[in-house]
Amino acid sequence: MSTFLSSASFSSSVLKWFDKHGRKHLPWQQNISAYRVWLSEIMLQQTQVTTVIPYFERFTARFPDVKSLAAAPIDEVLHLWTGLGYYARARNLHKCAQTVVAEYDGEFPSTVDALADLPGIGRSTAGAIVSIAFQKRAAILDGNVKRVLARYHAVEGWPGQLDVANQLWEIAETYTPKTRANHYTQAMMDMGATLCTRSKPRCTECPLQGGCVAFATGKQSQYPGKKPKKILPEKAVHLLMLRNPAGDLLLQQRAAQGIWGGLWSFPEVAIDTDVHGYVEDHFGKVSALEEWSSYRHTFSHYHLDITPVLVQLAKTPNAIGEAAVHWFNPHQPSELGLAAPVKKLLEKIAQLDPRASATKMATSVTKSERKKRK
Ligand code: SF4
Repeated sequence: MSTFLSSASFSSSVLKWFDKHGRKHLPWQQNISAYRVWLSEIMLQQTQVTTVIPYFERFTARFPDVKSLAAAPIDEVLHLWTGLGYYARARNLHKCAQTVVAEYDGEFPSTVDALADLPGIGRSTAGAIVSIAFQKRAAILDGNVKRVLARYHAVEGWPGQLDVANQLWEIAETYTPKTRANHYTQAMMDMGATLCTRSKPRCTECPLQGGCVAFATGKQSQYPGKKPKKILPEKAVHLLMLRNPAGDLLLQQRAAQGIWGGLWSFPEVAIDTDVHGYVEDHFGKVSALEEWSSYRHTFSHYHLDITPVLVQLAKTPNAIGEAAVHWFNPHQPSELGLAAPVKKLLEKIAQLDPRASATKMATSVTKSERKKRK
């Protein structure tokens, strides 16, 4: 049977492991500052280190400090974020930078409470900034650390539930050492990411193996408890890829709130809309129309079935609704924040030979149009 390590032995085992195996060369571990730690922590939420590295480098090259980020237009921030997903993070990042400049004269506060009051910063991110950037004792509990602690102590239940999270926070606070809190924090994140992985944890190499209940009982896969399953609702839409005679595509900016908030996207209509009639009513005469295969894009709270339709307009419309619009040249892409599926579709359109496509489209009609003609 396992015996838990004392908190001092727990942290010293973790630190010894860090000295030998911890990651020390990640871009945000160089020239450490609260700004760089904060930026990396926000980018790393729900996202792998290898994905984040090029984004972090592009971001810090363009915005070397919080003041330059705060002064940038949100569109530029969203553009640099394109492809990283969870865009609320980018909008909060921008808001947070502006708050730090307006309320703290461009210097991040150094306490967990003050940091956790800023937009987009939760208790764990605040703890990471305090421990890594300010080198003060503060606990963290990100997804990786939750997994290590839930397994080590066999904590039952899904950490999204308040009582389970509270238990894990209590454990995290107990083990966080007074000295070398920066290395301990980094070590716990590294151990979760490289040893105590979701599937096939490498327990034989783990410095905590001797006290780990999940290891002793062979029940690593049971911890942390899974989120209760819920069936996601489904929504189906047409994305209208409206092309003018010059070959540019119409993009509209989404409202700040909601899915793809503030990003540029194709106009969207419900799947049962008569696309040909709708486009002629709102954007003018259609020369050709081609329906592409449908595919599914899943958000955290629903599935979106997307059927793109490429529509060749006879003329560029004079007036278009109330949302901001942009005619996007797929061969000379503008720097805009684009929703990921829209970016992919624009890349696909850019690969089409416009002349070949126009000829093909002239003979192509959608199923709904065929029905209409009968
Ligand atoms: S012994 Fe295995 S399950 Fe336990 S903390 Fe280490 S890697 Fe995770």
